Order: sequence, then C-alpha cells, then structure tokens
Amino acid sequence: MPYKTQGSGRPQRSASSFRRGGRPTGGGSGGGRRKGPAKQYIHPSKFINQAVTKEAEDPYQAKHVFADFPFGAELQANIRAKGYTAPSAIQDQAIPEIIAGKDVIGLANTGTGKTAAFLLPVIERMSGIMLRPSVLIVAPTRELAQQIDEEFRVFARGMGLYSALIVGGVSVDRQLRELKRRPHFIIGTPGRLKDLIERGHLQLKNMGVLVLDEADRMLDMGFLPDIRRIVSEMPRERQTLFFSATITPDIQALVHDFLKEPVTISVRTTETSDHVEQDVIEAHDKNHKVELLADLLGKDEYQKVLIFGETKFGVQRLSDHLSNLGHTSVAIHGNKNQSQRQRALKQFKDEKVKVMVATDVAARGLDIPNVTHVINFDTPQTYSDYVHRIGRTGRGGARGRAHTFIDQQ
Ligand code: AMP
Repeated sequence: MPYKTQGSGRPQRSASSFRRGGRPTGGGSGGGRRKGPAKQYIHPSKFINQAVTKEAEDPYQAKHVFADFPFGAELQANIRAKGYTAPSAIQDQAIPEIIAGKDVIGLANTGTGKTAAFLLPVIERMSGIMLRPSVLIVAPTRELAQQIDEEFRVFARGMGLYSALIVGGVSVDRQLRELKRRPHFIIGTPGRLKDLIERGHLQLKNMGVLVLDEADRMLDMGFLPDIRRIVSEMPRERQTLFFSATITPDIQALVHDFLKEPVTISVRTTETSDHVEQDVIEAHDKNHKVELLADLLGKDEYQKVLIFGETKFGVQRLSDHLSNLGHTSVAIHGNKNQSQRQRALKQFKDEKVKVMVATDVAARGLDIPNVTHVINFDTPQTYSDYVHRIGRTGRGGARGRAHTFIDQQ
C-alpha cells in the first residue's frame, strides 16, 4: 500500500526523496536533525545480535535500607508511599555522600534510579532551610525536567518545599509568577534558564546546590555555553552533583571546572545492550518500510512499540499514517508544544496507544517502562544513539527486541 497521508490533497513526496541518510528535500520541514557532525556510517552487522545473553540476574545487594538514611519521618513516609523498598545501586552509594555535603559524579543512565538518588538527600538537606531558592536542577529536555519535577512533588509532599519548572516552549508569564513565590527548587532546561537570568528574572547568587542531570546529553545538544553561563551565576561555594552516562574529554573538562574533590560513583550498565535481541530488516524504499512495519504491528507481541525517526516532519507523518492504518499511535518531536508532548507521552506510558514515534532528541532521558519493541525506522546518527535507542526495551531483565530498517542490498 502506498505511503500516503489520508485527507491530504497535496502531492506526496516520491520515495526516493527519503533515501537513508538523506534529508527530505524542500518544504522546510526536515528540521528535526540535530546540528553537528554528518551521519556516521554504521555497518549493518552492528544492528544484529541474536545470541542474546540474559541480563545478569543477581540483583544489586544494597548496603542500606531507606530507614538507615537520616531522613525525617515525612520523607521516609513519602518514599514508602512511592513503593520503594530497597535503594538502587546509585541511591545506596550516592545518598550518604550527598548527605555528607560532598560533590558527586554519578555515572548512571536512565533507569538506574538516579533521580531519587539526588532528590532525596537534597530534599532532606533543604527541609527547614529558609533560604530560597537554593537548589538548581538542570536537565537536557523539557520532558526530563518535568519528570524530575513530578518526582520532586511526590517526595516533598507535606514538607513545605516548592519548585518552579523553567522550561522552553511554554509561556514565560506563569514561570515568572512561580519564581515570584520564591520556590526552594528550580528545575529547568538550559535555554530558558539562561534567558530568564539574562532578563534579570532569575538570581542564582544564593543557591547552595547545583544538579546537572544527563550532562553528556546536554553537551551533545549544544548547551555547553548556556550551562557555563548559568553556572557562572552561582556561588563557588556550593554542592555540585553531576550525572552523566558517559565520560568524554569535554565532560572531564566540565567536571574539573565545576566540582570540588568529587566522589565518583559508577553504576553504568554495560553500554552494549547484549540482552536486547537485535535484527535488521531490509527494505527497498520508504513505502516498503512502511508496509513491513504495518505487518509487524499487526502481530500480537508488538504491544508497546517505540519507533525512532530522523526528522520532526517524518516522525509526525509516520505516526499519522500508522493511525490511519488502525495502529493507535502518537508522535513526539520538537515541533509539538510542551503540553502536546506531555499528552502524547502519557498516552503511550499508560498504554492507551500502542505506538509512539519519536525523534532522538524528544525521546532523550524519558523513563518509559515495558517497551516491547524498539524499531529504528531511520538509522541513528551514531552508534551511541543506537545503543541509547534500543536501551528503551528489555529493561529490568525483561526480554527486549529491536529492529533496524536498512537499505536492501
Ligand atoms: P530514573 O533512573 O531516576 O529515571 O528512575 C527509573 C525508574 O525507577 C523510575 O520509574 C523510578 O520511579 C524507579 N525507581 C527509582 N528508584 C527506585 C527504587 N529504589 N525502588 C523502586 N523503583 C525505583
């Protein structure tokens, strides 16, 4: 069946304008590609892994239980209410150091529990402190910032601590009102934070704690100048908590400039995703890919499917097309505003729809449990993006599957 969006009277692109590695020509709507180096060639054999090793089954033996941490009764009750029983590895190791006031480098990816690892001890340290605002948390994407804010609200319930979410893509007025209320925690993305600092609405000179979450992703996304600008507004005497999945020379430079005698805690799971069954699917053109994809989605086991595409335009178009074919689908990409992205994410997380089609940037850092399949409709820019994409399936010892479309040989 031809890949056509129903209801559109406009002529369709020919399949050839969508060749792998190519940018859709014309229309000005291919803006989802990230700035930076040209697309890496990745040999198709790197997208195949049929000798799946099951993820190590011996669970982490925590040295602490939550009750060991010097948290007040309210925070302990909020942790119990959230359903956490044992601390994860990063929580077990980082919480005592953070409570002791040390700077910490946490080498941890999404899914390790890193958010609670920094939120819990910082919430505890802030309870009873009148200085506001005092904690700044910077994250690469709006969605991740929002997720952190949601976790903050759950953990800080009843403790008289407040937050402001300062992200792009939404009205500034509400954020200015939130800032006027002098929240204890400011959680945001680099661009909007820098904006509000430069417009004189945000003062960081009294802040005591800085958290940089997914620092490697922030650098990938070109936020380095914004981050340096933001941090230059903070006092040198502060506690800095720095989270990253990888350590590159750029990251090391930041660590050197921003942290003092840091403690490093590494809980990275291997970046190889050996436990995810991976295979390629050959297709001769875009229409063929869509046909094959629709066949797959018709199978029972494809229950919660995350599909990656390269451009904002392509992602939206594919999602609309799948919906027209009867496969419930949402899209997230940078052309959607914040509330549209949130709504789409929630529908997918809550399994109201079967498919979510996303760009790499929009999907970054999101915590989506139980994804049965990751499908790379377009090949990723780099191998590290590939590993990041397929790491969304096969979490927590579950079986994960990933398919990557490649050009027919
Ligand atoms: P994160 O790596 O912070 O994005 O967390 C990944 C997921 O693990 C989130 O859904 C958390 O709510 C959950 N989580 C974090 N810590 C724990 C814990 N100690 N016990 C159970 N679930 C947790």
